Amino acid sequence: MEAPWVKNTAWVEDIAPDTRPFSFMRLTMRPYLPLLFVSVLATISAAAVDAVGPIIYKYTVDAIVALEHGGTYADIRFWVFVYLAMVALRILLWRTVVYFSAHLGLGVRSTARYVLTNYLLKHSQEYFENRFAGSVSGKIGNAGDGARHLSDWAINTYIPFFIQTIVSLGIAFYSSAYVGWIFVVWIAIALPINIYFARQRPALSRAAQAAETKLRGVTVDIVSNMRAVQEYARSVLELTNLKELIIARRLAGLRNRLFDQRISLSNGSLQIIATGAMLLIVLYLGERGLATAGDIILVLALATGMGERLFHLGQQISNLSETWGEIEEGLEDVLAAHDIPDSKGAKNLVISQGEVEFDQITFSYHEGESVLSNLSLSIKAGEKIGLVGKSGAGKSTLVKLLLRHYELTGGVIRIDGQNIAAVTQNSLRQSIAIVPQEALLFHRTIRENIAYGRTDATDAQVEDAAKLAQAHELICTLHNGYDTLVGDRAVKLSGAHRQRVAIARAILKSAPILLLDEATSALDSESEGAIQEGLQNLMQGKTVIAIAHRLSTLKEMDRIIVMDKGTIIEDGPHTKLVRKGGVYANLWKHQSGGYLKDE
Ligand code: ADP
Repeated sequence: MEAPWVKNTAWVEDIAPDTRPFSFMRLTMRPYLPLLFVSVLATISAAAVDAVGPIIYKYTVDAIVALEHGGTYADIRFWVFVYLAMVALRILLWRTVVYFSAHLGLGVRSTARYVLTNYLLKHSQEYFENRFAGSVSGKIGNAGDGARHLSDWAINTYIPFFIQTIVSLGIAFYSSAYVGWIFVVWIAIALPINIYFARQRPALSRAAQAAETKLRGVTVDIVSNMRAVQEYARSVLELTNLKELIIARRLAGLRNRLFDQRISLSNGSLQIIATGAMLLIVLYLGERGLATAGDIILVLALATGMGERLFHLGQQISNLSETWGEIEEGLEDVLAAHDIPDSKGAKNLVISQGEVEFDQITFSYHEGESVLSNLSLSIKAGEKIGLVGKSGAGKSTLVKLLLRHYELTGGVIRIDGQNIAAVTQNSLRQSIAIVPQEALLFHRTIRENIAYGRTDATDAQVEDAAKLAQAHELICTLHNGYDTLVGDRAVKLSGAHRQRVAIARAILKSAPILLLDEATSALDSESEGAIQEGLQNLMQGKTVIAIAHRLSTLKEMDRIIVMDKGTIIEDGPHTKLVRKGGVYANLWKHQSGGYLKDE
């Protein structure tokens, strides 16, 4: 069955950064309102039927006792049938509750996952730089599971508890006002005690969880570094370290589990006292002819039912507060306000030529630490620029700003006359292709990785791009050709292979603006030479900004821009800058004296 949010996802696009669990529950249930309605209706009916059980016991027992005073077996048979009908109805209703609440709970979780992931995809690069991938995906998982549990518990536990308590109270008062009041007092004492215990529990379970996380982390670390452990013969040391964590985990677990015993013990004691008091009262009334044998059974059944429900109350409250906290923690991180939202009514970027202009831009990652100050740079359509400068000069930052990974502190960046802060980020990034220093390849096939540049590309187009990137022949020698999985973090491909795949991806994207951010820096000179032709093919007809440490790769660019401490200090073609004898000429001389002797 298709999930409702799959059909209509428009509402998911403009979710507010609201981190309150209650709002989140409303959000996740939004596509499932009919299901919620049926589930609540079914659970109210089921709980009400449950709660009237004691009345049927009372009349059955009264009918049995009446046999001695002219009653008939027909009367008893009647109540037995009523009892059977009630059991059948209960089974039917509870199955209905489970059926609908399963759909609701799993549906809520799927909406939660979809909504949160969709929201996550719009966070800025800075957001992801400050977080572990595993932790973010864990929080989405926890919030989704939490939402599912709350939905399940609401339908299967909280609503039935409420209904059964109300109905039982009604029956108790109907049987005798004294019994009814004992019920009230019982609940009034049990509730605060359970809340008191429940408030202490999250700390204990968090401690147990923390001990577990630590133990797992260290175990994973040991397994990942198993070569070091074995080659340095340190298994005894590792085991000794691990032993302490295992013991700590055991103690934390024990404290957490045994804490429940206190809640159970206090609830159990209350149950005995309350049941005892109620039974003494009915017996007293019975002795005076004010209560029947059936009434005694009625009170017994009511007290047993109530005792069972209250017995688990503390556990349920602490589950609720723990899950609530987990959802809150996840939402605070994932549903935080986006750093760089599209501006209201943002239009798509319309590229006519691919002209780029940095107009007096100023930027800092942290207040007070200026990275770029008042920098202006105009790049004509189709012009190829080489960015050079010491590490930390601000070259990569310039590229990131063009992609709008960060907001400018001052100035404007324009593409074909349009302020990039006023257009949609999607249209901006669709117009720019980038080959970074480390190709970002997914654990998917080579074909899928190349087609990431253009998802509707045909196989022939993918192969053409690979040929232009000088990657085709290499790919053909792989085990499964284009269908070879690249492996986790592309470990199966060499650095040069990976860069060729990245170049093919960029060629296929065929965006008018191209950024090469140290695209060949991680390669040795030989591999670098081998991918030059691919890069030349990629650059054809594009506006290019290329950052490189090895100046030889930038020699042929139209202009070289030399940056230092966030400003441009030299600007001109290679030959002119070399002749001028400034910073660039020095760098060039230095490098030619090194591994570029042949220049
Ligand atoms: P380049 O590419 O020329 O080596 P960068 O643009 O990477 O220089 O860095 C410019 C300055 O900005 C450096 O001082 C660097 O430490 C700082 N910087 C770069 N990235 C970040 C970041 N994500 N957060 C904070 N500071 C950063």
